Amino acid sequence: MYEGPVQDLIDELGRLPGIGPKSAQRIAFHLLKIDTAEAERLARAISEVKAKVHFCRVCHNVSEGDLCQFCRDPRRDATLICVVEEPRDLVAIERTHEFRGRYHVLGGAISPIDGVGPDDLAIRDLVTRVGTDQVSEVILATNPNVEGEATAMYLARLLGPLGVKVTRIASGLPVGGDLEYADEITLGRAFAGRREIGA
Ligand SMILES: [Zn+2]
Repeated sequence: MYEGPVQDLIDELGRLPGIGPKSAQRIAFHLLKIDTAEAERLARAISEVKAKVHFCRVCHNVSEGDLCQFCRDPRRDATLICVVEEPRDLVAIERTHEFRGRYHVLGGAISPIDGVGPDDLAIRDLVTRVGTDQVSEVILATNPNVEGEATAMYLARLLGPLGVKVTRIASGLPVGGDLEYADEITLGRAFAGRREIGA
């Protein structure tokens, strides 16, 4: 519809989550209007995050090094693993100060509609961790929506036979919502009130 670089920008923006064709156009024309320096700051922030930030070898959290700050920290209890969908959910749980263990970031939730199956998530690594480390409890803190619940049930069935205690954070969170939008007190309560499942 537009010429070369403008259309390329619209196409790239349109690939971002939550950005439809109209928003992509609006953002592209906004970027055309701003100063070169401002646009370059955005471009640099994107390049730097790709160059400097990686995923933790153990838990798949974002990390500047091979291991993230939680996997590196000897004060964090390695016998407890809290499973979350995305790094932003981990941040939400950290804010509650309820958890002193380690994390495992799946990279999403099982969603047949979106074509996301167990093999697309960091599930095999979780099973390996539970099998090799001295893990006593796996806390499933996936989102309280259809995909998050389906993922929790799948993991409970998978991990149960390994003899580890598997718990799910309590209901009471807004159904259909995301952990990251829950306030600290609600999420803290959901965490403290977790129940064993799949036993
Ligand atoms: Zn880690």
